[in-house]
Order: sequence, then structure tokens, then C-alpha cells
Amino acid sequence: MRVAFSARALKFPPVCSCCGDASNAAFVAKATRTTGKRVVHHRTHSWEIPWCGVCSAHADLASTAVMVFALIAMAAIVVGIVIWLSAAHAAGIALGIAIGGVAGGLPILMILNARAERRRKPTCSTVGSPVEFLGWDGSVQFFDCRSERFAAAFAIANQTKLINVSPELRQLLTRVAEAAESARKVRTHEEETAAPALELRPPPARNESLIMWLEKIERLKGTAARRAAFGRALVEITSSEDRATLALEVSRMDVRTALDKADSLKTAAAKRRALVEALERIRADDVPDELQAPEIAMLEDAIRRLDAPAPG
Ligand SMILES: [Zn+2]
Ligand SMILES: [Zn+2]
Repeated sequence: MRVAFSARALKFPPVCSCCGDASNAAFVAKATRTTGKRVVHHRTHSWEIPWCGVCSAHADLASTAVMVFALIAMAAIVVGIVIWLSAAHAAGIALGIAIGGVAGGLPILMILNARAERRRKPTCSTVGSPVEFLGWDGSVQFFDCRSERFAAAFAIANQTKLINVSPELRQLLTRVAEAAESARKVRTHEEETAAPALELRPPPARNESLIMWLEKIERLKGTAARRAAFGRALVEITSSEDRATLALEVSRMDVRTALDKADSLKTAAAKRRALVEALERIRADDVPDELQAPEIAMLEDAIRRLDAPAPG
């Protein structure tokens, strides 16, 4: 991926330009420009490109492979030329040596390259140098990045200096921006859904004495006995929350008793009396009526059914 910036100074993202892991080293990417015909000037510019130890190892090995191959091939060609020049009829031998050298160097190149390949991580973008500094023109710097991920990070880090943006780079940057946006959305969603979960406190350990009193009162038969026990419980239970819980439970027990009692009574008048008494009790107690709404509704419903004319 080609990237160009109009800049004298550039920011490099602190990630390996090959594998994308955190960078812990850098390599120098150089470019040389030759100017002038009679008086030749060589000018070299360079940038320090971040990478990691693993990638520096595989890239060094890969460039060593190329270098060793080039040396062997060149030596063979030079020897061939020397033989060809020294012995007039040795052209065939000279060519044989040159070809032999090039062919002999190939296995060495392949072995070293295979070694470099084995050192690559699955996330590596190349086996050799991950970024090439192609050169400069005035203040414009040209790079070729093997890793799209690094190209995008590099471009974003120097966004205001980015020029000559190719359609490929534009597409890449759009993809990266979209991925970042959806990652942000997922994060926000997770935060939104996680927040109430964090606020959820574990249910408070129920007061031992509250449980004891609830069991005790539940075992008692009759409203009067339960109310008396409830009075004793309130002496012991001091937490207002526990008191409210107990009051609500006692009230519910009363309603169940009243409904059972009404069921067992013979005359409608007696049934009605039992239900009305229970309803008055429930409305008069300390428990807020909205907490006992289902019980109140049950009693009222039972009374209404009694008041309604018998069908038929
Ligand atoms: Zn790396
Ligand atoms: Zn790598």
C-alpha cells in the first residue's frame, strides 16, 4: 500500500510495521537520489520505522538470503568472465561456471528464505522488509507498506499531511474508520448493558431473626395469635426494612386465613363479615396499601362475588 505525506517530520505509530504487535525496535529505511550529470550528487534520506524483535529477525534472515545468493552468483559470473578472457577457447567453460554459480546459489537462497519464513508470525505481512521508503520529491515523502494495517495507522497518525491518496488507501481508511466506529458502538453497548449489572448489589443477607420470626408466625394458627407474635417480633427486629417485610408477610397470612375461614363458613352473611373484617384490618395496619394491593384485591373480589345475586 502506497502512502505519501507532505512533511519534513512524521509520526510513526508505536506498532510493528510487519505484524502489528507493539514495537520494540526500529529499522532504517533509506532512499538515495542522484542528481547532476557532470558533478554527481548523492543524497540519502532515511526514516526510522518501528518493528519488533521477531520481525527484525525474519526480515534480516530474508535479506541475508538475497545477499548471499547475489554474492555467489556475482562471484561465479566474475570467475566465468575472467576464464573467458584469459583462454580464447574457454567460452563454454566460462558460461558453465557462471550458470553453475547462479544455479548453485539458488538452493542456499531457498534454504535461508525457508528459515526466515518459519520465523514469521501468522500476523506478519511479509518475510522481508515491511516498509520501503521509495524516496522524496521536495517535501513529499513516498512509502510502500506491506501491511495494510500499518499503512492505515501510519496514515491516520499523519492525517493532516497525507497527500496523493489512492483509491485503495481511501477504501482502506474508510474500512478502518467503520471498524473503529462499530467497535465503539459495541463498547458503548457493553457499557450500557454492563452498567446496571454493576449497580446490582447482591441481595442483602436476610436478618436471621427476621427468618426465625417469619417461620414462627407462619406456624401459628389464627390471626390473633399471629398479631401477638408480630408485636413481640417488633421488639426484637429493629431494621425498618425487616419490620416492613415481616408486616407484609403477616398481613398476607391474615388474608389467606380470612379467605379460608370465609370458605368454611356456612352463611353468606358470616362469610361477608369475615372478609370485611380482614379488609378493615389490612387497611388499618402499618403496611402501605400499595404493597398489599394483590391481597386487598383478592378480598374485595371475594366480597363482590358474595354480593352478586346468585346465578339462576
Ligand atoms: Zn513484528
Ligand atoms: Zn513479521
